[in-house]
Amino acid sequence: MANSGRLDARARGAVLDHLAGTEFDVLVIGGGVTGAGTALDAASRGLRVALVEARDLASGTSSRSSKLIHGGLRYLEQFDFKLVSEALRERDLLVSRLAPHLVKPVSFLYPLHRKVLERPYVGAGLVLYDALEGTKRPVPYHRHMTVRGALRIAPALKSSGLAGALLYYDAQTDDARYTLTVARTAAAHGAVMATRASARELLRGEDGVRVVGARVHDEESGRDIDVRARRVVVCAGVWTDLVHQAGGIKAGYRVRMSKGVHIVVPYDAIRSDTGIILRTEKSVLFIIPWGQRWIVGTTDTDWTGDRAEPTATGKDIDYILEHANRVLVRPLTRADVIGVYAGLRPLIAADENTPTTKLSREHVVDVPVPGLASIAGGKFTTYRLMARDVIDAAVADFDRWVPASVTDQLPLLGADGLAAASAEAGRLAEDYDVPCETVEHLLERYGTLAEEVLELTRTSPDLARPLAEGHPYLGAEVAYAVTHEGALHVEDVLVRRVRLFLETGEAGAEAAGPVATIMGDLLGWDSGRRAAEIGRYLELAEADTRALKELASADGPHAVMGGPAAVASGAARTG
Ligand SMILES: Cc1cc2nc3c(=O)[nH]c(=O)nc-3n(C[C@H](O)[C@H](O)[C@H](O)COP(=O)(O)OP(=O)(O)OC[C@H]3O[C@@H](n4cnc5c(N)ncnc54)[C@H](O)[C@@H]3O)c2cc1C
Repeated sequence: MANSGRLDARARGAVLDHLAGTEFDVLVIGGGVTGAGTALDAASRGLRVALVEARDLASGTSSRSSKLIHGGLRYLEQFDFKLVSEALRERDLLVSRLAPHLVKPVSFLYPLHRKVLERPYVGAGLVLYDALEGTKRPVPYHRHMTVRGALRIAPALKSSGLAGALLYYDAQTDDARYTLTVARTAAAHGAVMATRASARELLRGEDGVRVVGARVHDEESGRDIDVRARRVVVCAGVWTDLVHQAGGIKAGYRVRMSKGVHIVVPYDAIRSDTGIILRTEKSVLFIIPWGQRWIVGTTDTDWTGDRAEPTATGKDIDYILEHANRVLVRPLTRADVIGVYAGLRPLIAADENTPTTKLSREHVVDVPVPGLASIAGGKFTTYRLMARDVIDAAVADFDRWVPASVTDQLPLLGADGLAAASAEAGRLAEDYDVPCETVEHLLERYGTLAEEVLELTRTSPDLARPLAEGHPYLGAEVAYAVTHEGALHVEDVLVRRVRLFLETGEAGAEAAGPVATIMGDLLGWDSGRRAAEIGRYLELAEADTRALKELASADGPHAVMGGPAAVASGAARTG
């Protein structure tokens, strides 16, 4: 039976005591979308589940993706039909049933530049893409467009050389919020979760072989806790090899890190009513609508540096600008860039010589020793299937029957009753004395839980005010982030819960003070702690802003994003 899935930061001490005092069926290491999905899969099969995350939920790759829930048109060229059709089925399930509040259809225009062969080639690809999805479709079929039609919906395109276009549909989501919602849904099914709690060692049973839990370090207090579990499941993304090494495990696969960079530009920099997809020499480039912004990316290069804070270089930015500008009539410049973020794909390593663009996006599950299962690879879109597969493997030799996965029938928190909640938006706006747009904004982010956020404004009307001029986020969302979404620091709120870090030119700096006040009142911070939290965030924001300014003024192609301060304080943007 589900509860309300609260991750209350004020109850963290009790959560850690619970972790120390219970033997769980499954301990999940890692709180990205794979770990959160795995916790949900296991908890909804009736297992007792714990999850530990070394930093914040979604602080790794799961907040730094292109934010597309898609089949991946480009994988058709690699003949990866299984991956594409599985991902398309997942996309449709999320859009229509499991998370319609969070996953929305988005259109992409594919401009054609060669009159003869390109249209039938890409058109055939899109026929296949649509066919792999099946006949019940929550997103429309692709369409062929003339030059005039293409320019009407995307005046930003250069007309010279344009031979027409194809319009097709995929879906998009706020990846960090999605991950958080999966984690909360797992908590609603009984999973116990702690963030800033890192698994440092694996515990072995009496035989010295079987894994029976993990020694977990509380990054906030320095306390070590032994968390005992009958199965440990590693969902640590690009950290997977490190977790295996720390536990003395020789796994059947290794992870290769591939860096992907995106830039964020203002909405008026590109005049288009649709996203745009372009072919590049090795892959594709997306121009993706993101509220009042565009996200443009991505790159695909090997990375061997810091896993926690991959940095973008001037060369990455120039690559993106150069390719986007091949089709844009008003070229983007470095001065248009208001944000940059870099993420690392946890790809399954083949041989070292294979380019990362050619590595499969399929996932691999391994059970290298009794008591331990691990998973890596895959895509955000297929996290639910990954979770199912790794739990199937983990419990294959369980001493009692474990039901099959039920997550294909399990809407995430906020999804059930969405149509009625949307229809009631006007009444909610009246009841809580807020503009209708505020209710719509909350419905898109919290679904039917929007009323829980609004309810906080009854006792504290100040919380109904926006956090930053010209942005829809409310003070109530900060309070909710603490009481329901486990936010422990100002950074957790501004980078991953409300995303002002990504969406404002000053990385949300003006909101740091108000956020610290709301959080401090709830978490009992004294003035020193409030100042420290604000200082830490401003350092992050300043380093980021400085890096962007350096970028705008640099003319060489190799300027490094983020000066030494940015690198030292780990200021690479989290998307
Ligand atoms: C640039 C880019 C664009 C992408 N675009 C898309 C897209 O549009 N669509 C799509 O479907 N996929 C996309 N992907 C892929 C997708 O983002 C990833 O497959 C997915 O987010 C990986 O999630 P994860 O949970 O496996 O890893 P992560 O999100 O990295 O989570 C791993 C977590 O484990 C934690 N951890 C590590 N070690 C420990 C430890 N010892 N103890 C506790 N916790 C630990 C980390 O802190 C981290 O939070 C993209 C990836 C990139 C890089």
